[in-house]
Amino acid sequence: MSQQDDPLGGFDTRAVRAGQHRTNEQEQSEALFLSSSFTFRNAAEAAARFSGEEDGNIYSRFTNPTVRTFEERLAALEGGATCVATASGMSAILATCMSLLRSGDHVVCARQVFGTTVSLFGKILPRFGVQSSFVSLTDYEGWQQAITPRTRMLFLETPSNPLTDVADIRYLADLAHARDCLLVVDNCFCTPALQRPLALGADLVIHSATKYLDGQGRCVGGAVVGPQDLVGEEVFGFLRTAGPTMSAFNAWVFIKGLETLRLRMRAHCENAMEVALWLSEQPRVTRVHYPGLPDHPHHALARRQQDGYGGIVSFEVAGGREAAWGVIDATSLVSITANLGDAKTTITHPATTTHGRITEEERARAGVGEGLIRLSVGLEDPVDIQRDLARALAEGANHRGV
Ligand SMILES: *Cc1c(COP(=O)(O)O)cnc(C)c1O
Repeated sequence: MSQQDDPLGGFDTRAVRAGQHRTNEQEQSEALFLSSSFTFRNAAEAAARFSGEEDGNIYSRFTNPTVRTFEERLAALEGGATCVATASGMSAILATCMSLLRSGDHVVCARQVFGTTVSLFGKILPRFGVQSSFVSLTDYEGWQQAITPRTRMLFLETPSNPLTDVADIRYLADLAHARDCLLVVDNCFCTPALQRPLALGADLVIHSATKYLDGQGRCVGGAVVGPQDLVGEEVFGFLRTAGPTMSAFNAWVFIKGLETLRLRMRAHCENAMEVALWLSEQPRVTRVHYPGLPDHPHHALARRQQDGYGGIVSFEVAGGREAAWGVIDATSLVSITANLGDAKTTITHPATTTHGRITEEERARAGVGEGLIRLSVGLEDPVDIQRDLARALAEGANHRGV
């Protein structure tokens, strides 16, 4: 069924309407249920709820109406059957692995994923008997060769962080299914406003809601979207027992974030394109990574697979760490912070922050050099972002010898 034929309507209608269940108060905006537990009319009703005979809320580690609104809305935007919200993006990945993998299973993960995800697959899961192999995101032969009879899951992000490499989701979904594996896509950088991995064959979508779904840098949260058996049963079953669930307050913030998601993503894409083109012309910038640039190695694929090129732009300066730090320190408008997907432009030195805890060898293989700077282009006037970066490139050069 196409979105247009669906009673939920098109993407923009879903973003503001899906998942709302008005109470008798007839509130216009979604209600915030700040309640850790829910009451029963009598002991028999309590027993029926606990036994599962009767549907309904019991306790907010299991279900909460505000969290459910967020889950229904995000599922509607991703085109998934169901969604489970989590306390953070990392707990969404952890819950997926803990519920769908067993000791002895094997994962193939893209080398270019979020640094903490590399640590989870490389250091924590092996203690529980789950081994992982890392392959370069766009080395399709590498993916094929890394799959063993024990492999259960392929895991990737596209575009990648921080270099914005783009992988062919349809190809990797077909590969995963031919080898009896699940394809899990972390859709943090694009959000469903720009890319819907489930429609391209992925089995599960992961979100760090902390980023663009919030969009204004307020709350930490995450989500898993996919079919009822895997997400509604397995992932939900793990979460309600293990506990890293989303708070109702955070869910309410994310619900309101989803209402403006597509508008914001369009503006992030426009601003990022302007900044990327401008950076390409700066003599002190040796390389710009942005899928919207025609010379990006995966520009054609990004154009086909995505509805926009996203808000993340990375660039390189000569002179290594000292030069990159000099440029970052000389900015005044943009914020020096590791978060991304905010209305405010943020600037990061990946090699010593987000990718600082992986080994130097892993970093080099992921292409994260000391001269690399990541921008999450925000919603300010792009000329002001450019003016700040122009001064930073000039001053950083004077003080640090770029
Ligand atoms: C931030 C991020 C995560 C982790 O999310 P948290 O909400 O910080 O736990 C996972 N994947 C990507 C791509 C991210 O950018």
